[in-house]
Amino acid sequence: MKTSLNTYTVKEICKGFVYNELEGKGLFGLSGKLTIQPEYQRNYIYADGKRDVAVIDSMLKGYPLGLIYFNKITDANGDARFEVLDGQQRITSIGRFVTNKLAIIDSNGIPQYFSGLAEDKRQLIEDYKLLVYECEGTESEIKEWFKTINIAGVPLNNQELLNAVYSGEFVTAAKAEFSNSTNAKIQMWQTYVSGDPKRQQILETALEWVSSHNRQGIGDYMSQHRHDKNIDELKLYFNAVVEWVSSVFECTESEMRGLEWGRLYETYHGKSFNATDVQKRVLELYADPYVKDRKGIFEYILGGEIDKKLLNVRVFDEATKKSVYTIQTAKATAAGVSNCSYCAMSDNANKCKIWKLAEMDADHVTAWSKGGATDRANCEMLCKSHNRAKGNR
Ligand SMILES: [Zn+2]
Repeated sequence: MKTSLNTYTVKEICKGFVYNELEGKGLFGLSGKLTIQPEYQRNYIYADGKRDVAVIDSMLKGYPLGLIYFNKITDANGDARFEVLDGQQRITSIGRFVTNKLAIIDSNGIPQYFSGLAEDKRQLIEDYKLLVYECEGTESEIKEWFKTINIAGVPLNNQELLNAVYSGEFVTAAKAEFSNSTNAKIQMWQTYVSGDPKRQQILETALEWVSSHNRQGIGDYMSQHRHDKNIDELKLYFNAVVEWVSSVFECTESEMRGLEWGRLYETYHGKSFNATDVQKRVLELYADPYVKDRKGIFEYILGGEIDKKLLNVRVFDEATKKSVYTIQTAKATAAGVSNCSYCAMSDNANKCKIWKLAEMDADHVTAWSKGGATDRANCEMLCKSHNRAKGNR
């Protein structure tokens, strides 16, 4: 990998600066030779009147803005082009300022645009030197480097990194669908998918689903489809999952957000569900005080209400267990049988065994799923192996 350190003035960098207001992107600089926001870069997030203004204030005070990184690409004719690897937020803020799209607030609280600044201040900005580290290398070298430089500042997340590594037509089209803030469907998707669309997290989920619900498989999928001009498969699969969820569950509970819908779709989409019955069960389980994990309600219903572990049904507390154990053990000792009623009925060596408290578990006499309460009256202590056997029935 070839690297070199250069300096550019703000005037040079901002020559031919173009800002796309609609997409909130700084596009080009260095007289067109610099791509400020290559497709793989995160969206411009400094436009908040604080971070962007802080960049300009730093320059006016003569503070350093930190190192900027370019990826250098030399074409067949030996002409160099550059892409911003790190520093896009800073350069876009500077570019917006010198093109009068961003104002700073002066000491009197009045907004000041670049064109309204005194001549010496304008000069100060234009002559401000940006320190740029330029790197020319292979894909894997760039990837490695990207990881390193992003340790400082807001690090790129996994998907942003993958978008960088596999940049191309496919990523461009995928971003236009899944991280486009003007896409009206995003709000509906967020009922089921968690994460920030701008940080590529809806795209990440869509890719995870289409690559067999395997987060590790996303890179492979992106690599295989890197030069595809369409994202039909990705879109179709994502939409199929979302439509299936919304047809089975009428509700839009907050606990539905971020569940593994792709996996659930694969497992259960061949099964038929009556949305009215499903909705009734959802409401009942939501109202059940023994259900501790509401996120598990959906998979529990889809699976035919068998796997209670998904609901993390409330267990008996220690005081209840101890009290039931004491009474049960006293009775068993007096009768000369095991304090586990299942052992007592058996013909094996445990028939008369008195188990210690730690060797037993609490069991619902009437199963929770049949309406049994988690209270002392419905609690029985069983030896661990009988409790396990009963629970698995
Ligand atoms: Zn037993």
